Amino acid sequence: MEFLLTLRRRGISDAAVLRAMDDVPRARFVEAETAGEAYADQALPISCGQTISQPYVVAYMTEQLRLQPHHRVLEIGTGSGYQAAVLSRLAREVVSIERYRTLADKARERLAALGYGNVEVIAGDGMLGAPDRAPFDRIIVTAAAATVPEVLLEQLAEGGVMVLPLGSHSGPQRIVRLTKGADGTVNREELIAVRFVPLLPGKAQEL
Ligand code: SAH
Repeated sequence: MEFLLTLRRRGISDAAVLRAMDDVPRARFVEAETAGEAYADQALPISCGQTISQPYVVAYMTEQLRLQPHHRVLEIGTGSGYQAAVLSRLAREVVSIERYRTLADKARERLAALGYGNVEVIAGDGMLGAPDRAPFDRIIVTAAAATVPEVLLEQLAEGGVMVLPLGSHSGPQRIVRLTKGADGTVNREELIAVRFVPLLPGKAQEL
């Protein structure tokens, strides 16, 4: 299929990640008006002025997480629920937080309809993480922060990995991978350049 070929050609090589990308029907996560473009390698608009990420970036960030089947994962920025669905195929449990209640409700409904039972969607401020559910083996943030959200880093298990876009809202952003060492030190790797909507504090006031 063209969709997988494009991901392979762009450098995604992890077989489990490619399988997960093949399994999850992206068409079910986009708006009806853009269903025809669901398998093109591009971000698309969803409700509340947000976007469903480009498939390549979803696959890339997932690959960089180095997921194992026993992992518990925290995602900040549920959006459509697409990234959460991909994660759910590769990890034991996914907790995903979205600041727009409308998006959270829609994503929860979609994920349940598709049978992805190991994802929990929470409407709330993801910048606070989910302290009652921490620590997490992996954390992925799918909105861009100007600086590393320390609260989230605290909720990462020893040996854990966090992958997030870092950079200003209008300027350049880069995917960064943070690995938490046993002694609490954090190793930082700068990866590819990206463009994400901003990580904003607090619950959204509008629905
Ligand atoms: N992972 C999504 C892409 C989402 S776009 C997908 O697969 O479709 C980024 C999302 O992050 C937006 O929906 C935005 O509302 C959300 N977001 C931004 N700041 C947030 C915060 N502090 N807490 C939770 N969600 C946040």
